[in-house]
Amino acid sequence: MKKTNPFRIARYVLNAHELKQLPADQGIEVAIAGRSNAGKSSAINALTDQKSLARTSKTPGRTQQIVIFELDENRRIADLPGYGYAKVPLKLKEHWRNVMARYFKTRKCLRGVVLVMDIRHPMREYDQQMLGWCESVGIPCHVLLTKADKLKRGPAQSTLLKVRRGLPGIASVQVFSSTKKEGLGELVDKLSDWYEYEDKES
Ligand code: GDP
Repeated sequence: MKKTNPFRIARYVLNAHELKQLPADQGIEVAIAGRSNAGKSSAINALTDQKSLARTSKTPGRTQQIVIFELDENRRIADLPGYGYAKVPLKLKEHWRNVMARYFKTRKCLRGVVLVMDIRHPMREYDQQMLGWCESVGIPCHVLLTKADKLKRGPAQSTLLKVRRGLPGIASVQVFSSTKKEGLGELVDKLSDWYEYEDKES
């Protein structure tokens, strides 16, 4: 892990309901996706070491926008909506599926996708869809199997191996826990690579 966590400086920029409201398509953007309640907001808060940068909520399906956080003028995090949740109305699901498909196809600055899954419920339909889009446009996807603290080490490792075996070549996977900050170094390393941060130790 790098000596400093460069993601602490993240700050909220805007909410986008449509792609045209996004910041200019330049620099490097990394998207974070996950089904509602997977633990995405908690992972963003853990990554940025900020208690409430991304709102954590027990109300599934509340976030139906792309939320942009900025690290500097050329590096952004895009928090994608977790539209896959069953309670989201079908019309809204369809709408977001279309918006997301267009986002993946057209967003040139998109460098990689962090796909957050609850380690107890991995590889649901939403996840398959995200992986499919990444594969179709050749963008790397890093899967976070979060809430690992809810499982014993043995079952967590066997889920890791099982998920890894099923992933396409563009994807990688790790175990994570926002509560215990487990796997944070591995995530920071992966993102530092995507964002082209220089290794402070070298
Ligand atoms: P989101 O809808 O994907 O943004 O999910 P949240 O981050 O709001 O998390 C959903 C629920 O899971 C909340 O009650 C969180 O406190 C809980 N949660 C999230 N991450 C973890 C984790 O790593 N460990 C545990 N034990 N609970 C977590």
